[in-house]
Amino acid sequence: MTRRIFKYMELIILVTLVAGLAAILLMLYGYFGAVQQEQLKTETEITAEGVETGGEAYLESLKLAKTRVTWIDTDGTVLFDNQASTGGMENHLDRPEVKEALQYGTGSSSRFSNTMTTQMLYQARKLSDGTILRVSETRNSVLTIAMGMITPMIWLLGLLLIVTWFAASRASRKIVAPLNTLDLDNPVDSEEYPEISPLLRRIREQQDKIEEQKDSLTREEKDFAAVTSNMAEGLILLNESGTVLSINQQAAKLLKVDAETSTGKDILELERRVEFQNALKGALAGKRGTALLTYGTRKFDADITPVSDGDRTAGIVVLLYDITERENAEQMRREFSGNVSHELKTPLHTISGCAELLESGEVKPEDRKRFVHTIYTQTQRMISLVEDILYISHLDEGSVDMNRENIDLYEAVRKEMENLQHAADQKHVSLRLSGSSVIVPGIRRLTESIIWNLLDNAVKYNKDGGSVNVSVREEGDGAVLTVADTGIGVPEADLPRIFERFYRVDKSHSREIGGTGLGLSIVKHAAVLQNAKVDVKSKVGEGTTFTVAFPEKTEEAPSQA
Ligand code: ADP
Repeated sequence: MTRRIFKYMELIILVTLVAGLAAILLMLYGYFGAVQQEQLKTETEITAEGVETGGEAYLESLKLAKTRVTWIDTDGTVLFDNQASTGGMENHLDRPEVKEALQYGTGSSSRFSNTMTTQMLYQARKLSDGTILRVSETRNSVLTIAMGMITPMIWLLGLLLIVTWFAASRASRKIVAPLNTLDLDNPVDSEEYPEISPLLRRIREQQDKIEEQKDSLTREEKDFAAVTSNMAEGLILLNESGTVLSINQQAAKLLKVDAETSTGKDILELERRVEFQNALKGALAGKRGTALLTYGTRKFDADITPVSDGDRTAGIVVLLYDITERENAEQMRREFSGNVSHELKTPLHTISGCAELLESGEVKPEDRKRFVHTIYTQTQRMISLVEDILYISHLDEGSVDMNRENIDLYEAVRKEMENLQHAADQKHVSLRLSGSSVIVPGIRRLTESIIWNLLDNAVKYNKDGGSVNVSVREEGDGAVLTVADTGIGVPEADLPRIFERFYRVDKSHSREIGGTGLGLSIVKHAAVLQNAKVDVKSKVGEGTTFTVAFPEKTEEAPSQA
């Protein structure tokens, strides 16, 4: 900008200088013309004096180089001319200066001379005999004047140009300086240039508008981030070519990438699995797709939906749903149904076989009792199996009475021990209870299930003549129940699995002794529902110890019912 202003200034100065010089030249031309005419007048007077006294001889004696002297008779005939031959010269009476001199004594004029073919100055004087003496000279042309002044003019022009160059450069810098110092981030009315105030005001308005839009975008972005980061699902937004526009923390965690640096990357750099690629391809072509993906131990359903804008796909939304629980529940349900039907079939087959043999009459009378007993025990087994299945499904559905009450754990254990005494006696297993009364907030039916199943197993899987030591003790504000037996024990490899539904270390032995494979899973489930923690330690051949830690009493715990 400075250069431009400077250039314009220089051009204006140059044009002004040239125009000024031309005007001066013209003025000088006029001035020098008048001076020359005056000189010519003096010269004419002197020459006229000479001619009055010396006549033509005087004129002949004159040695004039530049000046032309013409003597004209009263009738206009040229009597003498020092620069042209008088013979062929035309009558001079019509010349303006001659006419004027004849009338007023002197006359002057300036015009183009056909004889001299140049601009001439004429001065005429009427002599005492009536003849006219005319003296003329070539008028100095503008060019002649200019040529005469060329050197000083060049100097002057050069000097002026240097001075104006400095002045123009300074002035242009000075003009631009306030503009350069304008704070466009915070434009306020300019004192130096009120003319640009409307522009500054406009900039300020636009800046305010941009600031507002920026604020609103930041707000929206924050809201979006807050919503998406609190989502349980992974969310990825892609543009129409599969580039990541946004990825929430959950999705970034699953893909093991950084959410911030993943923006702008191709999604296939982050997730390359074929099933995902195929679903993505479909979505890019406008078709919704899904892919089942596993991240670590968890299963996810990737829902890939195109966002269409008219006919074209403007972007893609990828949602990653955690379906581990759903899948596990589904798997459990399948396994459970399979196990249930299998467990029911076994006693049914035995019952049906015995009944068939009894009906056929092939069974000897002394064996009949044994057959009927088998039918009875298998029926009992089925009844307890069905009871356990129903109970566990009630626990699953949450349809068990969940009312909490303060339970005396010691008393509850004592009661269940009484119920088991007969079975223990038959196996010659001694039952011992130690500790004292401890109140825990719990769900009675669930607590009783825990105690019963642990005691039942401790007797069932005991050796003949073994023992079961049960203790109830207070620990902090909670209570700990320990059931330790001297039974067959559980191999270490099976320990983590004994709480699974229908899992049994020795299936046939468990069945023989009336196990359903559901006892410990009921214990686990009932414990979880009461926030109790179950632990087991075992050594094959030596015995097993189950520990159940009941939680501390809470403020809300109801008083004993
Ligand atoms: P079951 O009805 O077969 O006893 P549980 O769920 O109660 O089923 O127990 C699962 C398996 O754990 C049992 O089959 C048995 O092999 C083992 N088990 C449970 N308690 C004991 C124990 N006290 N001593 C040895 N093994 C046990």
